[in-house]
Amino acid sequence: MSSVVKKDGFSYAFDASACATCEGRCCSGDSSYIYVNKNEIESISKLLDLDIRDFVNEYLFKKGYKYSIKEIKYNNSHECIFYDREINGCRIYEARPSQCITFPFWDYYKEKVDELKQECPGIIGSDND
Ligand code: SF4
Ligand code: SF4
Repeated sequence: MSSVVKKDGFSYAFDASACATCEGRCCSGDSSYIYVNKNEIESISKLLDLDIRDFVNEYLFKKGYKYSIKEIKYNNSHECIFYDREINGCRIYEARPSQCITFPFWDYYKEKVDELKQECPGIIGSDND
C-alpha cells in the first residue's frame, strides 16, 4: 500500500515512509506550542493512567487560555516531552493531539510550502516548484 497521502486543498503530498528515518523533526526543533484541548487532556491522562490534575501539572503549561505540552531541551534544540528518541516515536501516539495528527496538512503551510519542506522530509511537490 502506498505511504503517500494527499489532501484536498493542499498543493503538496506527504510520504509517511519518511518518518522512519527523520528522527521526529516535527516533534523537535525550535521551541513551539503543542496545544491540547479538554478532550485531548482527558484522553492522554487516561492513556497514561494519570489523574487529570496530575497530568496537567506534570506535562502541560498554560499559554493564554490554552494548554500546551511541555518541551525539554535536547542539545541546542527543544523537543516535545513525549517524543521518545529510543523508539523514534510518540509515547502518547494513540492519544496525540489533533495538532499532531493533522501535520503536515495545516492551513498555515498552504502558502509556505518551502518552509514546510525545511521541516519535514516527507513533503513531495508543490505548486511552488
Ligand atoms: S517531520 Fe515529517 S517525516 Fe519527520 S516525523 Fe514529522 S511528519 Fe514524519
Ligand atoms: S505529542 Fe507526540 S506527535 Fe505530538 S509533538 Fe509530542 S511527541 Fe510529537
